[in-house]
Amino acid sequence: MQSLHAKCCKYFALPIDTPTRRKDFDYIRWYLLHGGASVFVESNTWYLLVHASCKHLQADNRCGIYETRPAICREYSTDNCEYDDSYTYDRYFETPGTGRGVCRSGAPQPRPAAVS
Ligand code: SF4
Repeated sequence: MQSLHAKCCKYFALPIDTPTRRKDFDYIRWYLLHGGASVFVESNTWYLLVHASCKHLQADNRCGIYETRPAICREYSTDNCEYDDSYTYDRYFETPGTGRGVCRSGAPQPRPAAVS
């Protein structure tokens, strides 16, 4: 039986401006040139995602500062927990070279258009 690993505590994501100009897409390309960075789109909002484990995530996947963890951690629900093998974004970009990503179905998606 395959074991699944939850993604929580192993990344953070921040909303970014929706790219419309060549310069905007060039910024996204720059993000993606960094290890651990990806970009995803969910409900028409673009996000920069950085794969980086929290410094307080213990080897047993428990929180090392549970009693004093930040509010965002306290408000997090496991109802929609994401796992390593599940794509949950409308669009997902992790490499700048191909300009292609994968969507929640796992099918390749075309490079964002409207670059002029
Ligand atoms: S503080 Fe605890 S709950 Fe919050 S991200 Fe870090 S390990 Fe996870």
